[in-house]
Amino acid sequence: MPKSIEARIANKFTINPATGCHEWTGSLSTQYGYPTISGPRRTLIYVHRHMAGPVPETPPPDGSNRWEVHHTCFNHRCINPDHLQIVTRREHCQIHGELRRARAQQKRVAARLRQRIMEMAPEQRSALRQQLEGIQAELAACSSRLQVLVTENAARAAQVSEELRY
Ligand SMILES: [Zn+2]
Ligand SMILES: [Zn+2]
Repeated sequence: MPKSIEARIANKFTINPATGCHEWTGSLSTQYGYPTISGPRRTLIYVHRHMAGPVPETPPPDGSNRWEVHHTCFNHRCINPDHLQIVTRREHCQIHGELRRARAQQKRVAARLRQRIMEMAPEQRSALRQQLEGIQAELAACSSRLQVLVTENAARAAQVSEELRY
């Protein structure tokens, strides 16, 4: 009797303790690196699609030709059903589009910051150095004033104890 799909999947993944991903150790599809096993008549079964559970009987409401499976962990090798979401093509594009936009935005902000630092660095650095020198001078003044006070107090204390002795 041929092994069931479940049995063939069961020993072909390792659990990533950090992410909870069930990472496929079997073969991967050439195009997007999705987990696959061979199906009947030389077909390929996409394991993540299988693990995501049955797709709705009805066609996707967005008019696309099939339901898609999204990895909420963004790890294509993952087959953990909890990390898989059945979505329409439109929803899927939205999710990945938002991600792409967020990443692009981050890159732009980082680039702008780097640029600003490059532009402002010389002036800013000398201004900061002046501030630092000012603070250091104040600290030095404070500590010398404190030293004077300590010396004065010590002298007064010595004088008082001298007076008390007689
Ligand atoms: Zn995962
Ligand atoms: Zn996705």
